[in-house]
Formats: sequence, C-alpha cells, structure tokens
Amino acid sequence: MGGRATSEVVVVGGGVIGSAISYELARRGIEVTLVEAATVASGASGASAGGVRQQGRDLRELPIAMRAIQRWPHLSEELGADLHYRQDGNLTLAERPDDVAALERRVAAEQACGLDVRMVGQAVLRELVPDIAPTVLAASWCPSDGHAMPSLVTHAFARAATRLGARILQQTRVTGISHHRGQVSSVTTTRGQISCRWVVNAAGAWSAAIARMVGLR
Ligand SMILES: Cc1cc2nc3c(=O)[nH]c(=O)nc-3n(C[C@H](O)[C@H](O)[C@H](O)COP(=O)(O)OP(=O)(O)OC[C@H]3O[C@@H](n4cnc5c(N)ncnc54)[C@H](O)[C@@H]3O)c2cc1C
Repeated sequence: MGGRATSEVVVVGGGVIGSAISYELARRGIEVTLVEAATVASGASGASAGGVRQQGRDLRELPIAMRAIQRWPHLSEELGADLHYRQDGNLTLAERPDDVAALERRVAAEQACGLDVRMVGQAVLRELVPDIAPTVLAASWCPSDGHAMPSLVTHAFARAATRLGARILQQTRVTGISHHRGQVSSVTTTRGQISCRWVVNAAGAWSAAIARMVGLR
C-alpha cells in the first residue's frame, strides 16, 4: 500500500455519499482514508439522472433536503469545480385522474412541511415544457429543485477531500473488517491493512456485504 497504513476513519465506497463524507471529515481536520473498489463515481453516482430534488421524497427526508438545496448554489465555489448545477425546477407528471389526485395529496403534505411546491394544469405546463405529451393531465412543480451532473459532483467532493488531506485509494477493495466487542480495529483491503477506529459504510448497493463483515444484517 505504501505510506500511512493507519487512519482515524476509513470510508468504504467512492460514490457521492463516501466522497461527501470524506470531504466533510477532512474539512473538520479528521484523518480519513476513502477506499474504493473500482474508481470514484464508478457506481450509481456515475450513472444517475442528476435530479437535485426536494419534492417526491419521504416527508421525513424533507427538512434535510430543504436545507441541502440552500447549499447547492454555493457548492461549485466551495468545491472549486463546475458541477453543471442548474436551479431550473422539477416536475412530477400525472397522466391518469387517479395519479392527479394522489399528486394533489402529496403536494398538500409537502406544502404543510414548508416546501414551495404547487400543482400546475395543462396551460402552465405547456408554457414550462412546450413539447410535453398531450396525455399529461397535470403536474407538481417545485421551482427551487434542479439538476447537476452526478459524476462531476462526486469527483468534486473527492478532489476537495484530497486537497484537505484525505487519502483516496482506488482499485482497492475492502475484504474484511477486524472488530472486537463493537470496536473496529482495522480494515483489510486487496492492497493491505489499514488500522482505524471508525469505518463508514458508504458502499451503496454493496453496503449489505460490508455490514456482514462486522456481523450486521
Ligand atoms: C447530483 C446527483 C443527482 C442524483 N439524481 C438522481 C436522480 O435524479 N434519480 C435517482 O434515482 N438518483 C439520483 N441520484 C442518486 C443516485 O442514483 C444514487 O442513489 C447515489 O449516487 C448512490 O450513491 P452511493 O455513494 O450510496 O453509491 P455508489 O455511487 O454506488 O457508490 C458505492 C461505491 O462503493 C464501492 N464499493 C462497493 N463495495 C466495495 C468494497 N468492498 N470495497 C470498496 N469499495 C466498494 C463501489 O465500487 C461504488 O463505487 C443522484 C446523485 C447525485 C450525486
């Protein structure tokens, strides 16, 4: 592995979650090593649609999503990278009367949580999206939602973390975690062992396999 083989925290997975956590830890002066089996943003974070969205979430997620959206306009500057972020709104479309009714209920619940979201009918919808299919009956419109390029965001967090002292090991797979009585002591990887006090499981769809390494299901 070369160099330091100890780290206060080992983050498993170089998707947006692991990269952002590594950045936040490094920003707070915490020694962190991110271990990624392939390359940064090679998982779901390199292949998603890019919606930066508050509407349509579990209502319990809404407070943090609403706080996060306030950070997005400044994130490019903070991370020193173009994220292709545009605050151009987000629509959820309804094509059947039942779906319109369900959407109205969802919008009412989100408005009650303080989100600026509203139902729009066909006339407004055609102004927003002139080529929208005639089968769309109505939509919910959240103007403060937007889009960004997921892979750029993930790489930007990873690079910013590195600038702050985080270590990123790519092409390195975590194969085991040593632990005793609830305390982690080291992580075994395909390139050697890293002694650590904390492990963050940010392995996305592979998280269950990492959890099993410490006996969690
Ligand atoms: C800007 C942005 C917009 C998004 N918009 C949408 C959207 O519109 N719609 C939507 O559905 N989702 C969206 N998403 C979310 C996306 O679909 C995923 O949910 C998210 O990227 C998952 O991130 P993750 O870090 O949890 O997982 P991943 O990106 O999958 O990262 C997990 C990483 O763990 C690594 N790994 C696995 N096992 C090991 C191991 N043993 N050792 C080391 N590494 C390992 C993998 O190689 C992988 O790189 C968006 C994401 C972003 C960043």
